[in-house]
Amino acid sequence: MPIRVVFLGPPGTGKGTQARRMSERFGLAALSSGDVLRQEIAEQSHVGRQAQSYVQEGTLVPDSVVTAVMLAGIDKLRSGTGFILDGFPRTVPQAEALAEGLRQRGWRLQAAIDFQMDDRLLIERLVTRRVCSRCGRTYNIRFLPPKAEGRCDGCGGALVQRVDDREDVVATRLATYRQQTAPLIEYYLHRGVYQTVDASAPAERVEAAIVGILMGLSDTE
Ligand code: AMP
Repeated sequence: MPIRVVFLGPPGTGKGTQARRMSERFGLAALSSGDVLRQEIAEQSHVGRQAQSYVQEGTLVPDSVVTAVMLAGIDKLRSGTGFILDGFPRTVPQAEALAEGLRQRGWRLQAAIDFQMDDRLLIERLVTRRVCSRCGRTYNIRFLPPKAEGRCDGCGGALVQRVDDREDVVATRLATYRQQTAPLIEYYLHRGVYQTVDASAPAERVEAAIVGILMGLSDTE
């Protein structure tokens, strides 16, 4: 059975980096709600125009808007492709809508993997994060630097700082996480799919921990 999991946890914990690694290793689709929304904003689509002010402020885009684009993204995958949802769901109503959407397709979520990290480290990692302006790959000038300064290892694109990674917006994003997304821990605990990783460990160790979790899933399915 294809792997179907979500990555939970505050921004800056390495969810995107690990989703990319798992996608390469297991042939999964990595669907990042933040990436999808940034793309819609860049295209100034209907969804993009609805989402723009929230993304810039670091608050949450309305549930109905995000849920619709993410379920549409799932439906675009080739049949039988497993997926990791990165950054979605972010509220209990989103989690409920996802569960219902999966149920309608005859599927269920196998794990919600929570990336745990101390707040102080989190802020440091967010403000030192850089993103490739061409392919979206994420780096960190302190913790995960590119081989050549300011350039993406993969495509050579210029690395930039996301507007919402500046210190003032980061504070709002973390507060939003605590208020609206942290309740998902309880939600998934109750459903027996909650798992954690220590996201402050080096990326290779986090990667190994997630591989262990995903391999365990395929064994039992
Ligand atoms: P991210 O790249 O995951 O940090 O997301 C960047 C921004 O996109 C967030 O600060 C929100 O404004 C918006 N966003 C991403 N995912 C969601 C979601 N599941 N629900 C609501 N807003 C979201």
